[in-house]
Amino acid sequence: MKKYFALLLAGVMALSLAACGGSSSAPAAPAETQKEEAAAETPAEEKAEAEAPAAAETAGEIKTIEAGKLHMATNAAFPPYEMISDNGGFEGIDVEIATAIAQKLGLELVVDDMEFNSVIISVQGGKSDIAMAGLTVTDERKQNVDFTESYATGVQVIIVPEGSDIQTVDDLANDKMIGVQDGTTGYIYCSAKVADGGYGEDHVSSYPNGAMAIEALKGGKVDAVVIDNEPAKAFVAANDGLKILDTEYIIENYAIGISKDNPGLRDAVNNALKELIADGTVKTIVDKYINAEN
Ligand code: GLN
Repeated sequence: MKKYFALLLAGVMALSLAACGGSSSAPAAPAETQKEEAAAETPAEEKAEAEAPAAAETAGEIKTIEAGKLHMATNAAFPPYEMISDNGGFEGIDVEIATAIAQKLGLELVVDDMEFNSVIISVQGGKSDIAMAGLTVTDERKQNVDFTESYATGVQVIIVPEGSDIQTVDDLANDKMIGVQDGTTGYIYCSAKVADGGYGEDHVSSYPNGAMAIEALKGGKVDAVVIDNEPAKAFVAANDGLKILDTEYIIENYAIGISKDNPGLRDAVNNALKELIADGTVKTIVDKYINAEN
């Protein structure tokens, strides 16, 4: 049944995003314009990827919303990818990778902290340059922003209180309330209709971030939280009395979302990211945070 859940999730991700992911969508008119541009740009994007020019070659042409800065839209409540550090700054895998990308492009990283639900809208609306938030690549989101190549993976897992009668994914169907983060893939999966492999909107409570979903779980307002595996580990480590169920879900790819109106920036960021993957910098950053969590 676990594999069945994974397959259903894949189906939901592919087919039902339009129905459930409306909160991340652009207003109708700009989205239409962007779609046309996206279609026209696709061959150029493939060509650029094939040729993979060095980031330095494109750095001179890139435009950002503020000269000399690279604004990153994120939700800094998603450890270990982005969180607020003890000194009040921002840290995490995404923050460090974005810093390294900005350095390659001769820019200074600025973290724009907001609800997860707003990160794509912020990029679409020209308020931030990149969306980097443990952001899963989905077909629905691809209509709204361009994505770089993937730099990390995640899976959705279930957190329950120790001693919960929810022991497998199947038990979630027994009239349970599930806490998720607004606009996330966990929300999209869980709120899908039962016929589509979800649990139905009535069985889902959405919270602005993972920490608030966890508080709801601890307060008994929800019976389980569905969230990405690495934040799940961090939340369980930081809160007594919670555990992660043993599950095998579909793998999601995290990538950076960039406005469809800024292909120069997209290519520059993507090339910088590719270099950082190729030279082992991304792996070093991921290992630093994920090994520390385990
Ligand atoms: N990976 C999930 C998504 O993209 C959750 C991301 C997040 O909550 N920051 O929907």
